[in-house]
Amino acid sequence: MCHAGKSSGLRSGIAFPEAGGPEERRAHVVGAGLAGLSAAVALAGCGWRVALCEAGPAAGGRCRSYFDRALGCRIDNGNHLLLAGNSAAIEYLETTGARATLTGPGRALFPFFDLTNDERWVLAPNPGPLPFWIFCPSRRVPGTRGRDYWALRRFFRASPEATVADMVPDGPLYRRLVVPLSVASLNTRPEQGSARLFGRVLEESLAQGGAACVPLYPRTGLSETFVDPALAWLAGRGAEVRFGRRIAALETADGRIAALVAADGERIAAQPGEAVVLAVPAPIAADLLPGLVVPDAFEAILNLHFRVHVAPGPAGFIALLGGLAEWVFVKPEVVSVTVSAATRLMERPADALAAEIWPEVCRALDLSGVQGEAMPSVRVVKERRATIAATPAEERIRPGARTAFANLALAGDWTATGLPGTIEGAIRSGRIAADIFSR
Ligand SMILES: Cc1cc2nc3c(=O)[nH]c(=O)nc-3n(C[C@H](O)[C@H](O)[C@H](O)COP(=O)(O)OP(=O)(O)OC[C@H]3O[C@@H](n4cnc5c(N)ncnc54)[C@H](O)[C@@H]3O)c2cc1C
Repeated sequence: MCHAGKSSGLRSGIAFPEAGGPEERRAHVVGAGLAGLSAAVALAGCGWRVALCEAGPAAGGRCRSYFDRALGCRIDNGNHLLLAGNSAAIEYLETTGARATLTGPGRALFPFFDLTNDERWVLAPNPGPLPFWIFCPSRRVPGTRGRDYWALRRFFRASPEATVADMVPDGPLYRRLVVPLSVASLNTRPEQGSARLFGRVLEESLAQGGAACVPLYPRTGLSETFVDPALAWLAGRGAEVRFGRRIAALETADGRIAALVAADGERIAAQPGEAVVLAVPAPIAADLLPGLVVPDAFEAILNLHFRVHVAPGPAGFIALLGGLAEWVFVKPEVVSVTVSAATRLMERPADALAAEIWPEVCRALDLSGVQGEAMPSVRVVKERRATIAATPAEERIRPGARTAFANLALAGDWTATGLPGTIEGAIRSGRIAADIFSR
């Protein structure tokens, strides 16, 4: 396995071969979301000459920034939070030189505000793996006892059929910790969300200790962290990136992909020895590969970007309970609100959603008397198919990266990564796909 890169897990001392040398192998990557970019970076890092084609006018897919004319500033399509324990994502950013573009409170710190009773608290796990914090009332959820937290261990041995709601009884721990964390990470309500999948999230975060839970988010924007540095890094390794090139069909012959056919009819041959990574959303992969079974249930995410300048507070974000708004991020030019598992809200008019959520933001950020009177200009972004639904039923049908075609691998947050549809899952999937050819 080739693990070219700067960081610990990827370090191998491998020098990048000169592009065009006699050893050059070629790979086609279809889709320039994070899964495709991750596959391209992993392959190029192992000396493959990569051709990346993207249907849209820009890279990043569901994780991108753009200039919003109405607001007069750049915004992200949605707030994205990483944790320090997201090892594949961190390695990808270290490889592409973008690790320093992440910022955050520098320690595990999650401020909460309960809209039903105005209660505030800060969840603050200690850095090491021994969870002293659960015995410290000022670091844990109010209304819980240290021993309540042992119930979380049930998630590590959850049956594949169990939901999040099956695992922990209703009470403060469930409502104030399990629900907000599981909804944010699975993008699925706890009554439907896979307990096993949430267990994997906990295993890689809280169970590792606070050091793995340090929140991280882009200092400037998603594209400036996850996309632009990767494209520059790929360009430096001779990768060819084509935008506006939608792959409409795959030609197969002798158990392999023989060519990619673009929507404009151009045929891109995949010569023997050339690899193809298909890193498109699940429904498009199913169209391109008849017979491929893919997840077909999705959940929405709602984001509202209020054009207002507010001091960021200790973490730069705050979690809300008891209202519509769930996570409020204070950014340099906007205050951005996320509501996950939001399919139920997709038909509600944008101005009605903003009118309900703005007062919640004012209370959480204590803006009354300052900004609270008039609602600033706002952009409401409804991502209807933000991620696959992280249910036991969908989990059963997520395909692995290997396919029946010798030179074709799948990547995407919907493949069987063992994680929900997240940045970490997408980036890991790209690495897994690349590893199939780099072994
Ligand atoms: C609003 C929102 C908030 C989120 N918040 C978080 C968060 O806080 N933390 C987190 O970890 N994750 C979060 N996620 C999830 C994360 O963004 C996704 O898991 C990740 O971006 C998926 O990457 P991907 O490459 O698998 O898919 P995509 O981003 O969908 O990429 C697929 C790419 O393929 C291209 N494509 C499609 N068809 C073709 C074709 N025929 N030919 C060529 N190209 C094609 C598309 O244009 C796209 O660029 C959020 C997602 C959304 C939408």
